[in-house]
Amino acid sequence: MATNLQVAARKLISVNPATGETLGELTCASEPEVREAVVRARSAQPEWRELGIRNRVTVLREFQRLLCEKKSEVAQLISREVGKPYAEALTTEVIVVLDSARFYIDNAHRLLGDEPVGHGSLVMKPKSGRIVRQPYGVVGIISPWNYPFATPATETLAALVAGNAVVVKPSEFTPLIMLEFAHLLHDAGVPAEVFQVIVGDGSTGAALVSADIQKLIFTGSVATGKRIGQMAGARLVPVVLELGGKDPMLVLEDADVEIASSAAVWGAFVNAGQACLSVERGYVHRSLYQPFLDAVVGKAKQLRMGNGMNPEVDMGPMIHQRQLEIVEQHVEDAKLRGARVLTGGTRLPELGPNFYPPTVLADVTHDMRIMREETFGPVLPVMPFDREDEAIQLANDSEFGLGASIFTRDRARGEALARRIAAGTVLINDVVCGFGISEAPHGGVKSSGIGRTHGSFGLEEMVDIKYVASDRLPGMKKAWWFPYGAAFTRQIEGLLDMQFAASLKQRVQGAQRAAGGLFAKKL
Ligand code: NAD
Repeated sequence: MATNLQVAARKLISVNPATGETLGELTCASEPEVREAVVRARSAQPEWRELGIRNRVTVLREFQRLLCEKKSEVAQLISREVGKPYAEALTTEVIVVLDSARFYIDNAHRLLGDEPVGHGSLVMKPKSGRIVRQPYGVVGIISPWNYPFATPATETLAALVAGNAVVVKPSEFTPLIMLEFAHLLHDAGVPAEVFQVIVGDGSTGAALVSADIQKLIFTGSVATGKRIGQMAGARLVPVVLELGGKDPMLVLEDADVEIASSAAVWGAFVNAGQACLSVERGYVHRSLYQPFLDAVVGKAKQLRMGNGMNPEVDMGPMIHQRQLEIVEQHVEDAKLRGARVLTGGTRLPELGPNFYPPTVLADVTHDMRIMREETFGPVLPVMPFDREDEAIQLANDSEFGLGASIFTRDRARGEALARRIAAGTVLINDVVCGFGISEAPHGGVKSSGIGRTHGSFGLEEMVDIKYVASDRLPGMKKAWWFPYGAAFTRQIEGLLDMQFAASLKQRVQGAQRAAGGLFAKKL
């Protein structure tokens, strides 16, 4: 069977990972082609910027209408190119993009508008200042294969509505979805040069990082993210890095086992575990450990595997052999170190070469790879804890800090514990879905990345912040300008006392010294 990617004479072949069917054959963009695409985007961007927020929002509204009309075709393409169930393509990709468009349509004007700045310093009172948000120019977006529509599309909508041009380099495993997205955007009224897709592998991505982009939004693995961060840093190109995760799920002793186990099964096995926010580690209070494992294993066994286009399928294949082999290595390492496989644990060749079943491991420890490295597959390793502090310590014992979840009937307790977990998102009594909340910032701490996408913080990443101030007393020389002198120094000291001295008496005395011409430098 063909692998998803075959680079021969710079050709990419997109393959359905469930069936091996060839979906398309494309040519990789060369380095000069990438550079030229960015040059074209740069020259088209000023006109797009000058269109203004209101007109760009109108284009987004049209895009939203077109996507809603074509939702089934788009979701089918996602299902065929990544292998995920059609239902998941709708619920975790198409809806996310439609709702993201809704968020920018409703909020771009408010969030991107000028913002007045008040001045507390006495000597700066005469100034009228404002924050002006301006598009960077060309935003480069490099994205992975696991959410090949929702990830780059939501980032693109934010960049476009802010007035940037965008050049996207989708994953080499899922190029067709971004090409379909480009059709929708162009049909909606985004000029062809303002949104471009360049197809290719890592070297094409590297060419985009080196091209004349003014901002880079990268989503992918920690290893690639670090490499890209260095390249961009050398040129001082600002970056957002959305990288891997190893999300913990904490089940406290007062949790509802029925709810928590259903959440764990969905959170660990949605998209065959290939989600950055997947539940990758389960920590369950010892009093619930066995009932939780029993429930999780029972529910995992009921999941139906197969081609995602079959509506009766819950879980599709993994994207490719390399990802499947990482899963096998982690499970083997765990077994060797004493973990028990409660269900799953061996690939399913009868379904196709890329199928691996929902797998639940018990008796895991933190010296196993399955608890330390990102597995990115359908495996849920679970260990018990006795005390709350121990659960927090285990959750934080990781190089990653993307998401986390806590299951408890006590909301206040859950929210208090959330503050102690090092992560970009903590959900109480739910898993994974933070990415689908358009208002919520998405991103991580530690090795999980830098910066945020989505919501107001994601929009803020798409603009340069400029401070503009005009003087209300333009005919007056400023107190701090030349020339200096003894009288000037006394007045400045008086002014400092007037504003910052501890006692009222000192402040009054300071005011007296400051008076007498501090603002009256001779014109
Ligand atoms: P990857 O790092 O292998 O590739 C990501 C993208 O980077 C691809 O488009 C690839 O072609 C490109 N690339 C590779 N080398 C490059 C280079 N040297 N210069 C420029 N571009 C280069 O990751 P992947 O396997 O596609 O995706 C899986 C990873 O993505 C997982 O670690 C997952 O956790 C992470 N991810 C994170 C988020 C998030 O929001 N934090 C979301 C989805 C996936």
